Amino acid sequence: MIGTPGWMGAAACKGCDTNRWFPERGEPTDDVKAICRACPVIAECLEYALTTPERAGVWGGTSEKERHRIRRQRQRARRAGRPNAANPDEAQRLHRNGWPTERIAAELGASQRTIQRHVKDGAA
Ligand code: SF4
Repeated sequence: MIGTPGWMGAAACKGCDTNRWFPERGEPTDDVKAICRACPVIAECLEYALTTPERAGVWGGTSEKERHRIRRQRQRARRAGRPNAANPDEAQRLHRNGWPTERIAAELGASQRTIQRHVKDGAA
């Protein structure tokens, strides 16, 4: 039997009706994404969903479509020989989802200064 990752013990959705994180097509997810934005393990949750076969539902404050976009961006960066390059679109999206710059920098493998510049460019 496969155990659950340790970070799940600190999840903001722990004890909630998890069906809300697996909406039917077209159902709004703003309410659960708001919970994710305040979750202390949002980065771990997103990485888990990006690196496992998990495809359905809201994970780490992202929809299936958003995670698909992140995977494609990472593939493009790997092919370009820049696996740790911070994609401005991804940095801005994570910032809109409430991530602090230091967390985005850690997630994307970039400096905080780079992330702050991307966020500033996105706000212009
Ligand atoms: S980020 Fe969202 S889905 Fe993931 S553990 Fe936190 S509340 Fe649950």
